Amino acid sequence: MQDKIWLSLPHLSGNEIRFIEDAFEKNWVTSIGENINEFEKSLQSFLKYDVNVCVLNSATAAIHLSLIMLNISIGDEVITPTFSFVASANPIVYCGATPVFIDSEKETWNMCPIALEEAIQDRISKGKGPKAIIVVHLYGMPAKMDEITAIAEKYEIPVIEDAAEALGSTYKGKACGTFGRFGILSFNGNKIITTSGGGALVCHNQEDKDKAVFLSTQARDNAPHYQHSHIGYNYRMSNIVAGIGRGQMEVLNDRVEARRKMHDFYVDVFKNIDGVEVFSEPNDDYYSNHWLSAIVIDEKIAERNREDLRLAFLEDNIESRPLWKPMHLQPVFADAPYYGTNVAEKLFDDGLCLPSGSNLTDEDRARIAIKIKEIFSK
Ligand SMILES: *Cc1c(COP(=O)(O)O)cnc(C)c1O
Repeated sequence: MQDKIWLSLPHLSGNEIRFIEDAFEKNWVTSIGENINEFEKSLQSFLKYDVNVCVLNSATAAIHLSLIMLNISIGDEVITPTFSFVASANPIVYCGATPVFIDSEKETWNMCPIALEEAIQDRISKGKGPKAIIVVHLYGMPAKMDEITAIAEKYEIPVIEDAAEALGSTYKGKACGTFGRFGILSFNGNKIITTSGGGALVCHNQEDKDKAVFLSTQARDNAPHYQHSHIGYNYRMSNIVAGIGRGQMEVLNDRVEARRKMHDFYVDVFKNIDGVEVFSEPNDDYYSNHWLSAIVIDEKIAERNREDLRLAFLEDNIESRPLWKPMHLQPVFADAPYYGTNVAEKLFDDGLCLPSGSNLTDEDRARIAIKIKEIFSK
């Protein structure tokens, strides 16, 4: 069996270990220290916008904190896309609230503005209306932020922007993660950069950031003893882990470039194969980091389906994966409201994520290309 080609693997710069050693030498083996401060600063300057970043131990924790900071509680409703990773929805339930799932539109695969407005109006007519909107930029592709922001402003609902997959993506030149009242970043092991596990909450003022730090470090009041007047969480990033982040920030631009080249590679491989569409930006307003390259297969034209391709890859030890299974089809969310026209269901049926890592070699690409040509030759 040949070596496995993975969907997305960590890709270290080599410098991470220097920052970790520095933390050991200075004995900052805790959740404060220079690595945390410097990692936050470099994220702020990367986002090229006046933001205050608070690094945490996961993006899931960041979503949970953002909901807490928006006072989401028992009985509330929060809007979120049906087509996403489960971590975009779970924190809603941690708050005792109910997720309201919205379908995708066909261009960016993200939250459909039409279904969004329909859902808001219907929820208002049935009760008190949604308290927050979580927008996701799937696979790095920016959502239709102008349309979504306009609707959110019209109904005065705050937006949480789950940019866990979209660090390095921009919409109309502005970084994903900086549009919402809060932005979310992830440094999980499979993301475009990693800290082994970690996340960040992007805030728009120092007050929000200070509150996020306070809540993520057990909400300890200012007193010589342990004094508490709020429920706190243990969500802050460790200074060791932040050292990995500092090393990764040195190569983030290279990683974006390499992932985008993987997308171009697939556009080229599939250009003469009928019935296969490589997921691409609809126009120049959108700049995707192409965290994962993905395709949709029209079985009627291609005479193959996504399972044919996935299983053939598997035989050759090449990993690929169906697109996200919509949340409203997940057993755990069977009772949650859903608005849409089954665009996400169709994407789940026909779509496949392909190996996309920034550390794939020319040899890996050759193996992938040969396999694809073999599968689609008549
Ligand atoms: C990875 C991911 C998350 C969760 O990130 P963690 O850092 O692993 O908690 C949330 N939302 C989306 C869209 C993701 O892809």
